[in-house]
Amino acid sequence: MNALTEKQFERYKRNILLDGVGSQGQVKLLQAKVLVVGSGGLGSPAAYYLAAAGVGNIGLVDGDRVDLSNLQRQILHTTSDLGRPKTDSARDKLTALNPDIHVICFNEWLGEDNYRDIITGFDLVVDGTDNFATRFLINRACVEQRKPYIFGGVLGYTGQVMTIIPGRGPCLACIFRDVPPESAPSCASIGVLGAVPGMIGTAEAAEAVKLILGLGEPLVGRLMTYDALTMRFYDIEIGRDQSCPICGSIS
Ligand SMILES: [Zn+2]
Repeated sequence: MNALTEKQFERYKRNILLDGVGSQGQVKLLQAKVLVVGSGGLGSPAAYYLAAAGVGNIGLVDGDRVDLSNLQRQILHTTSDLGRPKTDSARDKLTALNPDIHVICFNEWLGEDNYRDIITGFDLVVDGTDNFATRFLINRACVEQRKPYIFGGVLGYTGQVMTIIPGRGPCLACIFRDVPPESAPSCASIGVLGAVPGMIGTAEAAEAVKLILGLGEPLVGRLMTYDALTMRFYDIEIGRDQSCPICGSIS
């Protein structure tokens, strides 16, 4: 596929008009393969914006079903989806928004036995998970396969996002050496303001589009933190750890 149809040109006009995108950029988006792990609070806005932008192949991984307590923030799901697999519910919304794209569903949890195989089929990974054990698996596979991984996390009124490009900046294990204990605070124990994963998931989608198009300055080596209570964003600059057990030996 090298040319856009008339309908595609119309649908993506506001992308195509952007400096640095054009029709060629739109074709790149349509050919891209992005894996969004988790179809919840972060994965919903991230996948929505990727689908709207015309990212042509979106993988969704989630083994969960839609629960009433999800609907306060997980905007891909509605009340009539209660009890459905999240990946099915998410795919319906994404393809209704944009029938131009392919959505590949993995109705399972990302774990030790499948993470490498699932990630192999994609160009980059967007984090929509809610736990560090899964994030460390994604980080490991992305370093091994030299693929970008856009990390995102939320808790309470705050969120964080960072782009990991193996060999170019720190990986997750350079920053957080070990998986935090299960007793660490979580959204399930202390809550989360729904708009916070909205902000962070949207930032992740913007990073993914930038990487696909080679635009701007990716959030590499800068952990961006957002605090909804003060409405401030700030960067924490972080370098690579040469003794990192995951990425220390790669260049
Ligand atoms: Zn590392």
